[in-house]
Amino acid sequence: MDIKQLKLSRRHALKAAGAGIIAGAAGSSGCSNAPEKALGPQPIDGIMPWSNWSGNQVSYPAERARPRNIEALVSLLKETDGKIRAVGAGHSFSALVPTDETLLSMARFRGISHINQDTKEVTVGAGTRLAALGDDLWDNDLGMINMPDVNTQTLAGAIATSTHGTGQEFGSLSHFVTALTLVTANGEILKCSATENKDVFDAARCNIGSLGIITDITIQVRDTYYLKERSEMFPMDEAFERMEKLGLEKRRFEAYGLPHANHILLIEFEEVSKEEADAKQGEVVSGDAYETFRTLADVIEMMPFLRGAVMNIAPRTVGVEERYGPWNKIFGNVRDMRFNEMEYTVPAEDGLACFREVLETIKEKDIDIIFPIEYRYVGEDDIWLSQFYQRPGAAISVHNFHDKPYLPYFAEMEAIFDRYQGRPHWGKIHTKTAQDFAELYPQWDAFKAVRQRLDPTRRFINEHLDKIFPVTS
Ligand SMILES: Cc1cc2nc3c(=O)[nH]c(=O)nc-3n(C[C@H](O)[C@H](O)[C@H](O)COP(=O)(O)OP(=O)(O)OC[C@H]3O[C@@H](n4cnc5c(N)ncnc54)[C@H](O)[C@@H]3O)c2cc1C
Repeated sequence: MDIKQLKLSRRHALKAAGAGIIAGAAGSSGCSNAPEKALGPQPIDGIMPWSNWSGNQVSYPAERARPRNIEALVSLLKETDGKIRAVGAGHSFSALVPTDETLLSMARFRGISHINQDTKEVTVGAGTRLAALGDDLWDNDLGMINMPDVNTQTLAGAIATSTHGTGQEFGSLSHFVTALTLVTANGEILKCSATENKDVFDAARCNIGSLGIITDITIQVRDTYYLKERSEMFPMDEAFERMEKLGLEKRRFEAYGLPHANHILLIEFEEVSKEEADAKQGEVVSGDAYETFRTLADVIEMMPFLRGAVMNIAPRTVGVEERYGPWNKIFGNVRDMRFNEMEYTVPAEDGLACFREVLETIKEKDIDIIFPIEYRYVGEDDIWLSQFYQRPGAAISVHNFHDKPYLPYFAEMEAIFDRYQGRPHWGKIHTKTAQDFAELYPQWDAFKAVRQRLDPTRRFINEHLDKIFPVTS
């Protein structure tokens, strides 16, 4: 029987394939996943550690602040000195957040405070998680124009790094911002938009937490909508042809290239009517396809000689999968399987060539990786430090599981991205410093001037940002 007829979900099919291979080859009833780290970072001298989602960043903040309102935030900034780093949901892989001084959470600044149904703009507390924002917008018949891969980030954290989804027609979340309020290092409240404090607005829509503490953000939204998501595994050459066509048609899709394999998973999104979504909806489940790859990684770790076979046989067992539902249910995957990630955005027109080079290099150099490589398009914007500044981009992401080494692999990939004038995602692993950014961003000096004006004593600069904004630059 053709296994496609079974219509297994890609998650379960790959898992089953992995488990079957283990059981068959090992002559056992299968194997359990590698144990997760039993113990995370421990308190030191009574100070509790802070760590990010993947666990690759840890710090020991001497103080933690969670202001109740804007007055409390202003007082905190006026009455204290020393370094302060804002934290959102801790979903950045780069060391944007860590500090051993004051860690500040805006978790109490949550929810929608104003809706303008005429202009379709909503004002949202900086610490609002994207999932909660999605639910509130849904209740008001509104929708986000686009969404990233998961919805667990805070809105302020997401815009701080130009977090994005996919689709050439759509910019990043930063691009939807029409106004915001921030409190500067000395406690001044500053509102900015295209017509008020324009230079701060151009800098603050992608600010890596280096300008001040954002309290609220106004974003452009739209009427609510329904989506169909269609996933299908294609042989490599057919996938590239299809991606080229979808790119030219500016369709909304993402691709996952399987290392050491000749297959690419394409996921296409299409807006559908409420009637069609209701008729076909069924149970809208959000799976974690990455779990499947973890299973395969465990198989390959036990039997490395099987890598080529596993990576080429497993994809063939995957059927076409379609999901229908409200926009906020289709977007927002569950990611239980922790990983570390590097992402670079290259000019959109070079994206497919770069993607191909990444996949070929992994094969040629026999890099020990099986985690799929993600490929997405993002529309251009006019935000000074956005990866998409005056340049529509192809964002290419490489990952490894959180308990596996990732730096040597990422170094190989970074060398490729550099050849394509790639700009790193601010929230993901990279090794770029001030000099590189000065070449990558035409408005680098303008951003630095605004930063210096708003934070002359460098309160918002931690060790990581010291390399990006060194004192001498
Ligand atoms: C599982 C997973 C999936 C992801 N998927 C995507 C994706 O699809 N697309 C994508 O582009 N990225 C993605 N990312 C990256 C992620 O979206 C970014 O790193 C984002 O910045 C994290 O938001 P956060 O709320 O966790 O902020 P944090 O990581 O906690 O902080 C990020 C930055 O925001 C600053 N900040 C937070 N709040 C404030 C505030 N109130 N005022 C001023 N500065 C503030 C912090 O100081 C820091 O510089 C993903 C990450 C993970 C772990």
